Amino acid sequence: MKRRDLIKSFMPLAGMWGLPSISRAAAQAASEYRRPKLRITEIRTAEVRVHGYQVHVRVYTDQGIFGHGENTDSAEGSVPLIRSFSRMLINQDPLNIEAAFERIRTSGIFAGAQAGQYITALTAIEMALWDLAGKALGLPVYQLLGGRVRDRVRVYCDSGAGRMTPGDERSLAKLKLIQDMGFTAMKIDIDDGMDPARFDRVNWTASNGEIEHMLAKIAFVRETMPKSIDLAIDMHGRYDATTGKRVAKEVEPFKLLWLEEPVPAENIDAMRDIRASTSTPICCGENIFLRHGFRELLEKRAADIIMPDLSKCGGLLEGRKIADMAHTYYVPFAPHTVTSPIGSMATAHVGAAVPNFLIQEWHWVDSQPLWKNWVKEGEIIEKGFIRLPERPGIGVEMNEEGAKKAQVPGTPWFEPAPARRG
Ligand code: MG
Repeated sequence: MKRRDLIKSFMPLAGMWGLPSISRAAAQAASEYRRPKLRITEIRTAEVRVHGYQVHVRVYTDQGIFGHGENTDSAEGSVPLIRSFSRMLINQDPLNIEAAFERIRTSGIFAGAQAGQYITALTAIEMALWDLAGKALGLPVYQLLGGRVRDRVRVYCDSGAGRMTPGDERSLAKLKLIQDMGFTAMKIDIDDGMDPARFDRVNWTASNGEIEHMLAKIAFVRETMPKSIDLAIDMHGRYDATTGKRVAKEVEPFKLLWLEEPVPAENIDAMRDIRASTSTPICCGENIFLRHGFRELLEKRAADIIMPDLSKCGGLLEGRKIADMAHTYYVPFAPHTVTSPIGSMATAHVGAAVPNFLIQEWHWVDSQPLWKNWVKEGEIIEKGFIRLPERPGIGVEMNEEGAKKAQVPGTPWFEPAPARRG
């Protein structure tokens, strides 16, 4: 008996039981490609403040399922932008994700669609469409991105707020916490605009005193933590090329996982000069958007490791494309991630699917009550790894009661958008 005949034989049964879901599933399965027919009906948002301002997006369909996405960092302005994108999404088939992405991106080439807030707003939609596609097809997102090459992705703990001060009780307690949680890698910030050894609040050259303080912080963490825990350091692009080169050289004995953004990433030649001057691996890219932003960086061999933020730079498929591009230069991919468990799990799907994945960030060590209650599945990090779920879509669902604690006061919570004027 052919599959189609088999399905037909079930149809009267489904009707007899009065189970519309079975009937609908059978009707969908009866189509030649077992492809559900969906139509986008509405898009709604919720605004939260945890790691700065972040926007959650839901894309609804005519069949009751919705996809959930999230963006961060350059999320300001996302709500009106997403509302303006709606006219290009309503009534469209949500499974044609590339088409939706390109329609929105190319319609904005005179409106800032090369980078920044426009792309970050689009990113939240893109992520929601992948969640939706997975739910509609009954597959985890990594399966739609080429399948997984690993079952779990390694996560490093960013040490969060509060600078590391050698010998300080709070710093020691934070380091113990990170160790006890089972992380195999961590990151600290070594830039300090308030350092008393800084002579000038505006000039970007670090004094000898500042560099000594940076080295002392690194030495303190390195001596406190076991050697098996990798250490990365971040300078947030706050220094000039002279300082960047000096610090990269001075930290060589620490055998760091990486030195992050000693200078802003937009001057690719300056980053390349620093990389060429040191054996310390240089990582950058959390403020770079789309494949187009990473092309020259890779071509000029300006970074040892790239760190696109997939909740900001274009989304999950764009993240996969960036990672693949990097792979042709033998450059590993270590996504910057400061989102909730939803954006973090979405990022992990890409990490599971690309061969050159190195490690993914976790930045909620100071917001753990929110983190643990954000999704119905609870804690998603186990001893420094995220295990990929078998559930369809991103595989985690927001626990509204928990997430609502971070709602930006006075903003809608997945409520219908007001009618657009003008
Ligand atoms: Mg950084």
